[in-house]
Amino acid sequence: YSEEEKTEDYLFKIVLIGDSAVGKSNLLARFARNEFYPNSKSTIGVEFQTQKMEINRKEIKAQIWDTAGQERFRAVTSAYYRGAVGALLVYDISRRQTFDSIGRWLNELHTHSDMNVVTILVGNKSDLKDAREVTTAEGKTLAEAEGLFFMETSALDSSNVTAAFQTVVKEIYNIIL
Ligand code: GDP
Ligand code: MG
Repeated sequence: YSEEEKTEDYLFKIVLIGDSAVGKSNLLARFARNEFYPNSKSTIGVEFQTQKMEINRKEIKAQIWDTAGQERFRAVTSAYYRGAVGALLVYDISRRQTFDSIGRWLNELHTHSDMNVVTILVGNKSDLKDAREVTTAEGKTLAEAEGLFFMETSALDSSNVTAAFQTVVKEIYNIIL
């Protein structure tokens, strides 16, 4: 490498938020390790996982934070959000109640972090077609109203998982550089 080609390092903190059991930990497991846990308990949550990505030939480290299940008690602390530049706000397309919680999570996100935090609304478990309670159009409409990116994913069959994380990282990259 010549001096010019030396890659600079960027570290982006990204948080996973959303109701319990929507699949946050499995989205991270699928993205970072290509693993899936069919009967995962909240205890599988690690504090954070760092994933290297390449954008425009620059090396980016996405430091993705997962809860250890504290969202069940509405006890996600401000330390969790501190310094976050990106967020995946996750609901479960087969449980309407988790979609109804999105407004509350957005409030919490905006209370504890910068208003400009790059956020994608993620409708997870798109593989559960027969159990769907939230339509794709509803997700899209909410995302547009709140100025969020939007994608439906499945941690089980992998669909759109990498794309969802990449969307956030790319946008952060575009904003800061
Ligand atoms: P968290 O509490 O939001 O971290 O949710 P988990 O990742 O622990 O997942 C909760 C449950 O949903 C587990 O039994 C997972 O196996 C299951 N799950 C997670 N993602 C998917 C998915 O995309 N499709 C299906 N069918 N199940 C999923
Ligand atoms: Mg979890």
